Amino acid sequence: MPPPVKLAIIGGGPSAFYVASRLLSLLPLKDPMSPLLRVHMYDRLWAPHGLVRYGVAPDHPEVKNCTNKFDATATDPRFRFFGNVNVGSKVLHSIPHALHLPLTSILNNYSHLLFATGCTIPTLHPAIPPSIYCMPALSLVHWYTQHPSRPPPPALDKISHLTLIGQGNVSLDIARILLTSPSVLRQYDVPEHVVEVLSRSTVKHVSIVGRRGPLEVAFTTKELREMINLPEASMVPIEPTLLEPPPGVTPTRQQRRTLELLRNGSKNPPGSTPKSWSLHFYRSPTSLTPPSTASALDMANLTLAHTRLDPATSRAVPTGETSTLPTSLVVTSLGFHADPETTFYDPAMRHLRSSAGRITSSEGSVLKNMYASGWAANGAKGVLASTMIDAYAVAGTILSDIVPFSEAATTTAPPPPVMEMAPDEMLNPHPDLDALPSEIDRGITDGIVTQYDDWKVINAEEVRRGEALGKERERMGWDEAQSLVALSRARS
Ligand code: NAP
Repeated sequence: MPPPVKLAIIGGGPSAFYVASRLLSLLPLKDPMSPLLRVHMYDRLWAPHGLVRYGVAPDHPEVKNCTNKFDATATDPRFRFFGNVNVGSKVLHSIPHALHLPLTSILNNYSHLLFATGCTIPTLHPAIPPSIYCMPALSLVHWYTQHPSRPPPPALDKISHLTLIGQGNVSLDIARILLTSPSVLRQYDVPEHVVEVLSRSTVKHVSIVGRRGPLEVAFTTKELREMINLPEASMVPIEPTLLEPPPGVTPTRQQRRTLELLRNGSKNPPGSTPKSWSLHFYRSPTSLTPPSTASALDMANLTLAHTRLDPATSRAVPTGETSTLPTSLVVTSLGFHADPETTFYDPAMRHLRSSAGRITSSEGSVLKNMYASGWAANGAKGVLASTMIDAYAVAGTILSDIVPFSEAATTTAPPPPVMEMAPDEMLNPHPDLDALPSEIDRGITDGIVTQYDDWKVINAEEVRRGEALGKERERMGWDEAQSLVALSRARS
């Protein structure tokens, strides 16, 4: 019989759940190895599901259906979830009320460790640092999803023109939320205080700026189509020559669809709606000058370098020309990177050092029983389906280490490479399967650490409150959630 396997997963987002779900199903309860397996998941947020709860746009409720699968995983008796636990990283990016758990407590208590910590830090633009005229997209997303980091509400009632830098799906999510009627958004999972701010919004135009051209946009056609079909906004037509592929370039199917959508323009003719949006290609910000007076009506000036595509590298290079875009607020939406405080962070890659799902040392050798999955391992790219495929492969890799000769392992993962274990990164080869780090035991008793059953109580109450208001759910903050959990535990 192989030795017991006690896997700690740091992170409680989709990648973490997909690895857990796959691993537990590859070693089902009837498997002789099953009694020797435990999977414990830690998240710094008190609620599970990471980006599914705190990243997916509220008007995309169908994307959140994966939580049904995650709920099913959580019913496995070998699985436990511990929320509001910040493993390893210090105060800088942490949640004020989260319990701090040193990584050594995990290493002492577990035989295997998976980092599914995602990419939680927004990439900033060096030329336009955050200010009252410039904020990262993540602050807006965390505001409308009521993330426990609690960014302040944007002053949407004081601005008329908002500029997004970056042409990815996060940019389009934000543009769509700002250009959709709050009465439509309200039926979804949008907190009432967010709906209230959106109802007072005076935003009339959203500019979406990209440093490269229409063939290089990072957003997908589904999201572009949603913009084009917005019932209350229209798109400023794009100069037709910009939509001609350069000579010798054959666009892919997706690129052809993008060009066609852009050529046809929005469902609403330009100028027919009170709100509008525009795409600006081959423009890269170089500075943002605040208005000369502090009047709310004054706009900042965003200077944009004109760019062209270097055919050899496909990178944007400046042409030497510039122009100015007056705007009330700039939102940078340039993607995300992993938290540099995370152990095994690679500053060059801006995510964790890993190879085929295994954590590697700075010399490149594989560290025994340590894994990484999802955005933590690969960077902030891909949609939930690609996260799932990656997670299933990592689960196969873990299984191949646990039971190298099982049928499932040999069909899902290549044989393990030679591995080393650095002395200060030593996991416990013989952990007590059901013991928890003492800090966690105490945190549960003190009502600071949440478990999946607590989440089920909170979830049911959020949905109930939502129903009463005629919407998908009404979210709770930590104080309320903590009180509800205390009450529910006292009753049971
Ligand atoms: P993204 O897809 O990587 O897009 C980032 C955008 O920022 C690109 O247009 C990029 O242009 C631009 N950019 C980066 N650095 C820049 C710089 N220094 N100056 C100017 N522009 C710069 O990132 P994202 O929108 O944050 O999305 C992250 C991931 O989540 C993506 O895989 C996305 O598809 C996914 N996501 C999916 C959905 C959905 O399915 N509905 C919703 C949200 C997010 P270059 O190409 O020129 O670098």
